[in-house]
Amino acid sequence: MLPGKIVCVGRNYREHAKELGNDVPKEPLIFLKPPSSVIRSGESIVLPSVSSRVEFEGEIGIVIGKTLRKASERDAARAIGGIVAVNDVTARDLQKSDGQWTRAKGFDSFCPLGEPGDAPSELQRLTVITRVDGVEKQRASASEMVFSIPALLAYISNVMTLEPGDLVATGTPAGVAPLAPGQTVEVEIAGISRVSNGVKADR
Ligand code: ZN
Repeated sequence: MLPGKIVCVGRNYREHAKELGNDVPKEPLIFLKPPSSVIRSGESIVLPSVSSRVEFEGEIGIVIGKTLRKASERDAARAIGGIVAVNDVTARDLQKSDGQWTRAKGFDSFCPLGEPGDAPSELQRLTVITRVDGVEKQRASASEMVFSIPALLAYISNVMTLEPGDLVATGTPAGVAPLAPGQTVEVEIAGISRVSNGVKADR
């Protein structure tokens, strides 16, 4: 089943904000990806011809289990239905030139999504790893996030109601890099979920 909405968080790891020349935001920076961008493990990421720089972003995804509206961090933590590997694929050049992110983040195939697994009792121990052709490119723990997972969910729920099945992508750590046709990119949430996708050019 597709998520009703996909809420993403930008610049939630200090080192990643720095590598793109940005400061860490004072409040969570949120944006949306369309559900039509979702693909599953084994399907291809298609590089649109209008972009010359499409990058992977491995992220810890949260599947919402219970409706959250103006929730506290405590209630938000209890509403997590599962943990899922997400790749927030991004056309970096269009993200810069457009000034807002809908196109850069919204192409079909730009949201590879694994199968959800159970949330651990200690969310801070979640680890995300990204590999390109088997070579590790990103590795970070949720403990390195600027805003914690419960804080993000509570913050978002004060803007928009989060419903069961909605997905929250919690931001990518340092190490993002461009993808090329023929590569395979894998995002893993250690011991919980993974998604692996080939990359091909649009034609
Ligand atoms: Zn992202």
